[in-house]
Amino acid sequence: MTANAEINESPLGPTESVTPSQSSQSSQSSQSSHVGERLDVSRETPASPHDGRESIEPGPQPDVSRGTESDAAPQLVDGEGPRESGDLADLDDDSTPLATAIALDVRRRSTLVGAPLPRPAATRVLTVANQKGGVGKTTSAVNIAAALAQSGMRVLVIDLDPQGNASTALGVDHRSGIDSIYDVVVDGVPMSSVVVESPSVTGLFCAPSTIDLAGAEIELVSLVAREGRLAKALEAHLADTAYDYVFIDCPPSLGLLTVNAFVAAREVFIPIQCEYYALEGLSQLLRNVELIKTHLNPRLEVSTILLTMFDGRTRLSAQVAEEVRAHFPAQTLRTTIPRSVRVSEAPSFGETVMTYDPLSSGALAYLEAASQIAHRDAGSTTEGADS
Ligand code: ADP
Ligand code: MG
Repeated sequence: MTANAEINESPLGPTESVTPSQSSQSSQSSQSSHVGERLDVSRETPASPHDGRESIEPGPQPDVSRGTESDAAPQLVDGEGPRESGDLADLDDDSTPLATAIALDVRRRSTLVGAPLPRPAATRVLTVANQKGGVGKTTSAVNIAAALAQSGMRVLVIDLDPQGNASTALGVDHRSGIDSIYDVVVDGVPMSSVVVESPSVTGLFCAPSTIDLAGAEIELVSLVAREGRLAKALEAHLADTAYDYVFIDCPPSLGLLTVNAFVAAREVFIPIQCEYYALEGLSQLLRNVELIKTHLNPRLEVSTILLTMFDGRTRLSAQVAEEVRAHFPAQTLRTTIPRSVRVSEAPSFGETVMTYDPLSSGALAYLEAASQIAHRDAGSTTEGADS
């Protein structure tokens, strides 16, 4: 099997160098298109209609028909320890991937659900950014926000994408013309007049976006202090309203809206999809963060990286995860988010998966990710990464 050796030559393109210190091993990287071809043939098992299940042991896939979905996506690659006997005695058939996956989910449920999380000393503001679309920015922002709110935190999600997907997932109105983050950023309307509470989770608030925001990139250009307008509005809002966490869901670009988000935040949270070209563009994103840090917001740090849409049936997912962890050992969360039908269908009900199907593997993974974020301190997570 040569796939591992190949990925180490990196899916990063020839110009890509992804560590903040620019000291990555990617200097000998090859053309992305070649990597794409190589990775394609390294796929060991064909995609199956059952989503989210990992082939974690050699041997045949279990023949299981499930009417709903993917409750059985394990995270064994994330460093879960070996199974212990006793606590899961009823599930003593761990000879199949499915049995192992179910056993793992049972254990995760019992340790995660209802466990209290530490409250941050001061409000943590995280910008969820990646200029690639469809990598799980919105999904991660709303689900981690919901998980934290369900654990008793007060959480604000600022929807800064004109598509308004975060507003949809939180069940918040975002029809054109309503008071929204557009009015805040462009017209200087106070944020408190647009924030609403999500109907599905107590303590979870949303500053909705509307399609009007699509014009804001251009309108902002001529405005005074155009890069700091969101920061100023958020600062004023935080002065009279307490939150434990603020998540800013960015559009898939590095334009002025994303710059506003970087200036308003202390932490950058980057979701990375475990797919082809996952790391392409990452060095550009990191360069932008460095530029913002130098010129506009010296406290900004990439604190958190989350691997999303992990599919354990493919070597590709594991290879991307390995590559990301090699470059960002301190920032990358141990938990990966599995591909899950439940996660993707929740927004169509105006909900996050945390309320739509709280015991599904996707919800458990997001709860676990939220717990890891809560147990980290903004400053300490970045130490070592830049050295
Ligand atoms: P972004 O905000 O980066 O554009 P989204 O969060 O909107 O990305 O995700 C893109 C698409 O992928 C959406 O349709 C979403 O429902 C789906 N998706 C995201 N995460 C998962 C997951 N873990 N499993 C299955 N589908 C997912
Ligand atoms: Mg989005």
